Amino acid sequence: MFQVPRGTRDFTPEEMEKRRYIEQNMAATFTSFGYGEIQTPTFENLELFTAKSGESIVNELYAFTDKGGRELALRPELTAPVIRCYVERLQMEPKPLKLFYFGNCYRYDRPQKGRYREFQQAGCEVIGVETSEAAAELLALAFTLLKNVGLKNVRINIGNLTIISAIFKRLNLLKDDQKILLPLIDKSQFDDLKVSLRDCGVSGKDAETFIRVLQTSEVNEIRSFIADDPDAVKELAAMETILGLLKNAFHVTEYGIKLSIVRGLDYYKGLVFEIDAPVLGAEKQLCGGGSYELVSLFGGTEVPTSGFAIGFDRTILALEAEGFIFPPLKLDVYIIPVNQDMICTSIEIAQQLRSQGFSVDFDQLRRGIGKSLKYADSKHVEKVIIVGPKELEKKTVTLRDMKIGNQEIVSITEICAKLKKT
Ligand code: AMP
Repeated sequence: MFQVPRGTRDFTPEEMEKRRYIEQNMAATFTSFGYGEIQTPTFENLELFTAKSGESIVNELYAFTDKGGRELALRPELTAPVIRCYVERLQMEPKPLKLFYFGNCYRYDRPQKGRYREFQQAGCEVIGVETSEAAAELLALAFTLLKNVGLKNVRINIGNLTIISAIFKRLNLLKDDQKILLPLIDKSQFDDLKVSLRDCGVSGKDAETFIRVLQTSEVNEIRSFIADDPDAVKELAAMETILGLLKNAFHVTEYGIKLSIVRGLDYYKGLVFEIDAPVLGAEKQLCGGGSYELVSLFGGTEVPTSGFAIGFDRTILALEAEGFIFPPLKLDVYIIPVNQDMICTSIEIAQQLRSQGFSVDFDQLRRGIGKSLKYADSKHVEKVIIVGPKELEKKTVTLRDMKIGNQEIVSITEICAKLKKT
């Protein structure tokens, strides 16, 4: 017996219906915010990912050498590919450029619930704008995407890497120290962080205040800790403007400042954020994003860039956990030819209705009315058309309403109008 490779999944038609529902819903939200869709290849040159994250990232990738000796990798995310495409083809486009995407990503992770080796992301990148309204809109868009698909309880946590860098500078922490400290901050391992800060020469009092500031959502507490760094103070004020717009113009209130959101200092800068669905427990992070610098690294002329990615699979898990009822996979009409002489007419009716936009199937197993009706019921069919010899003589068929259970004789030429009416 063959099985799917570890960390991957098959999706049945019912599951695909859920995924398509979310994809269509999200695409509609993206386009309502003025975004255009972009698609890049499933694999890229390996260097695209090592350039940003260093050689050690290879351990987390599906990297391979092709028959031509090229070093390639299945994409682990889409920000780097989209920015590669921007530098290659879109630099002359009018700004801002608002791009969204859906794509499967591959990471050599340890699989668990909500963490797969092949998973799908829905995301976007905004290129060429750095205003507070653009930043507020990005946060509002991520939130609206999740709300529009039907999630009830999601929360945005907002951090800022410019402020974190300023604090690091003030505490005399070197680049090497930061490499040790950032993952601890990212994972909220504050006890270990305290020990590491002490090892890096930070006083106990400073370490305690820093850890408190990482966890507080009180702007004043943060402001007093960064008071002697003008850049950080300015950045905090800019953040307040963004959050003011988010609340007062976009009317999004489910957010809080959380400076422990750091997302790796390597290419993110300034504002960063994550959105959680508390209902998911351990793997609750649905979305991550912020502003970052990649364009010049890929040989382009530097412009402001920001974006986010939503975990598609976790969005479905969160919806299921919240008890969301997905639109069922359904067939509008099922046609039952009573005997073999009725097959040709049944097909003609099916084709006619299909051309009018109905989803239609007909019994191809010649299994008779009783079994066919049972099958139609299992497929959540709303209307069944029974094509029988007596009715056909008068150019009519039986139209059965599967919900109510009643049936009527309808002229073949009127079926379409009748179905449209109901
Ligand atoms: P990241 O690109 O790491 O910021 O991830 C963005 C989002 O993708 C996360 O918030 C998750 O929802 C989702 N995600 C990341 N890694 C995985 C994975 N291995 N399996 C499923 N979803 C993932």
